[in-house]
Amino acid sequence: MTARWFHRSCSICEASCGIRVLADREERKVLRIEGNSDDPISLGHICPKATAMQGVYEDPDRLRKPIRKTANGDWEEISWDAAFDHAATRIGTLQERYGNDTLGVYIGNPSGFDVGCLLYNRFILESLRTPRLFSAATMDHFPKLFSSRVLFGKGSILPIPDLDRCDYFLCLGGNPVVSQGSLMSAPGVRKKLRAIQNRGGRFVVVDPRRSESAEIADEHLFIRPSSDAYFLFALANVIFEEGLVRLGRFEAFTDGVDEIRELAREFTPASTAAATGLPAETTRRIARELAGHPNACVYGRIGTCTVEFGTLASWLIDVVNILLGRYDEVGGMMFPRPATGQHEPGNPMPPIAMGPYRTAARALPSIDGHLPASAFAEELDAESAGEKRVRALVITCGNPVLSMPAGDRISRGLEGLEFMLAVDLYLNETTRHADLILPTAPQLEHENFDFLCQSTAIRNHVRYGEQVFEPEAGELCAWQVYLELAARLNGADPEALDDLNLMQNATRFAGKLGLDVDHVIAQLSPERGPMRLVELQLRCGPYGDRFGQNPDGLNLEKLKATRGAIDLGPLERRFPDILRTPKRRINLADELITTDVARLSARQKDFENPTGLRLIGRRQLRNMNSWLHNLPHLTRGKNRCTLLVHPEDATAHGLSHGGRARLRSRVGQLEVEVEVSGEMMPGVVSLPHGFGHGASGTRLRVANDGAPGVNANTLTDDHPLDVPSGTSVANGIPVEIEAA
Ligand code: SF4
Repeated sequence: MTARWFHRSCSICEASCGIRVLADREERKVLRIEGNSDDPISLGHICPKATAMQGVYEDPDRLRKPIRKTANGDWEEISWDAAFDHAATRIGTLQERYGNDTLGVYIGNPSGFDVGCLLYNRFILESLRTPRLFSAATMDHFPKLFSSRVLFGKGSILPIPDLDRCDYFLCLGGNPVVSQGSLMSAPGVRKKLRAIQNRGGRFVVVDPRRSESAEIADEHLFIRPSSDAYFLFALANVIFEEGLVRLGRFEAFTDGVDEIRELAREFTPASTAAATGLPAETTRRIARELAGHPNACVYGRIGTCTVEFGTLASWLIDVVNILLGRYDEVGGMMFPRPATGQHEPGNPMPPIAMGPYRTAARALPSIDGHLPASAFAEELDAESAGEKRVRALVITCGNPVLSMPAGDRISRGLEGLEFMLAVDLYLNETTRHADLILPTAPQLEHENFDFLCQSTAIRNHVRYGEQVFEPEAGELCAWQVYLELAARLNGADPEALDDLNLMQNATRFAGKLGLDVDHVIAQLSPERGPMRLVELQLRCGPYGDRFGQNPDGLNLEKLKATRGAIDLGPLERRFPDILRTPKRRINLADELITTDVARLSARQKDFENPTGLRLIGRRQLRNMNSWLHNLPHLTRGKNRCTLLVHPEDATAHGLSHGGRARLRSRVGQLEVEVEVSGEMMPGVVSLPHGFGHGASGTRLRVANDGAPGVNANTLTDDHPLDVPSGTSVANGIPVEIEAA
């Protein structure tokens, strides 16, 4: 027996809890996974998904070797060499025949949790030479990035609640008790929310469902789906009308306050009450409470993003916090300082690139290189995109058939592709349509570094993840796959490409400090891969040893020696130094956003007189989008893919608890089990996404047999958009319902 403990984070969700893995390397067996109580950030917290990395590692359905579809539709294992050649040849041939933009690329969420994917996906994106990039961002958080990009100059400069010092936490459209915080990595968040209450503060949830977070809140307010922008404008209206504006330090570098005052004038608590469902007096009281608590903050998440006015709602959250002087202040919304130096002061960023690429079907612009996820289905479809349709596709770590709008149409579109390459661990509802699948080594088989979490955590920190097992014979890590594929596409030597990338990074990070680039490179580990890039950035970063300039500073060796995370302290003031806007000022009333206010006004009557029901999603403790449903310990138990319906709506539509309902939207229909529940706002029903397994040709035995569920995205209409950011409207979908 050669078992020992390995320290890393759980790479399943943004919380990135510190864990300890007891494993026998010789036997290649995980014996136990538990929360790391010595981790200074997560303090031992884990959720039931913490063992998912073990589940994926052991899953007999996980792909271990490249597979290629044969002429009769079967799969055959092939060598990596043959696989790379096949991919490069097919992509090259099709781009030559139809043009570079015949190729579409989709990047899924899990790639954000693998440092190799994050630091090497640029190789793929550059080598594929196509502007047709889709990702999960415009199905999730893009309005947040868009607002930060407009206000602060850089999308990744995200405001994060300073939960540990806050005394009033207003949470819209988020369920942190289940998610452990999203764009707010806060493992063990329940205790932190309780702590706000214990120190005399308030926790208020605004949501169309009485969620698990609402259950422990001091107050829960039902709000109509998609109407958050009306509510937030009304808060701003009260703040102006009652003289509660306190810009504080931001007054010196913030413009546009008077324009916001004018825009907010029409959205009074009384005039918005019918649209939101919130009484005017309640809205007024919330505004006063926010202003009356010195350490208050307003936070919004998925329910405020993936809606018709996602950008306005995200921006108004920024606006309200700024008007109340709650940005960049202790207890308010603060801005993390990544140890790898991504948010250090720098030159102004170029203006947002609206286009120049536009989709074939609807001429929707790419925004800073991202195309709307809602355009994905129609871009695959000859009827809508014609000769300019996507004919070849590269998908990494994603399952858009289950996670993007119009899933059924996507499935049909994928079937019509001339070539599809998937980089994925599973033969799932999307990758079954591929011609070639390249599986990468699972998380436990490579080192990791919590890169993204540095920008979203409620406390500055840095965490290293130990490799538990060597990759199995014949397995490659994601960074190796990306690098080799890029080399084949370019007819280049992968090592030369890698060296060039290292040189560019060293010039960027070390050059800025006036360090000799060759000297810096000579001091880095000779081992190829993402960790030497991490080492470079860490040592050049704000806490780094700067290759000797700051001998007590951080380096990778010190980080590894801690066997987990290093706490870098509470969030600190960063403004105005980190502003990257052209004038290094904040323009609250930028037209890229404010032009959408006219659309909000025009739609108000429809919100006041809603017809039919509205469908929203919900996050569940044992789900993470679609990709953990093949793990027995996370799928057993009662059916979780149910439709929550308020008792009044159930009676009105003849539905019974445990019975079945037929649900119809403009784009699709499905049948699902009903759960009658008082946790729903009347007029609103809820269905979780990520289900809909059981398709022929998939290799997901547990998901297909045990918990297939239904695909909520069959109902997600791909036409309506949050116009400024191009984000999908996945919440607040009009649906009709009847007993099945
Ligand atoms: S909350 Fe759960 S899934 Fe998320 S990182 Fe922690 S243990 Fe993993």
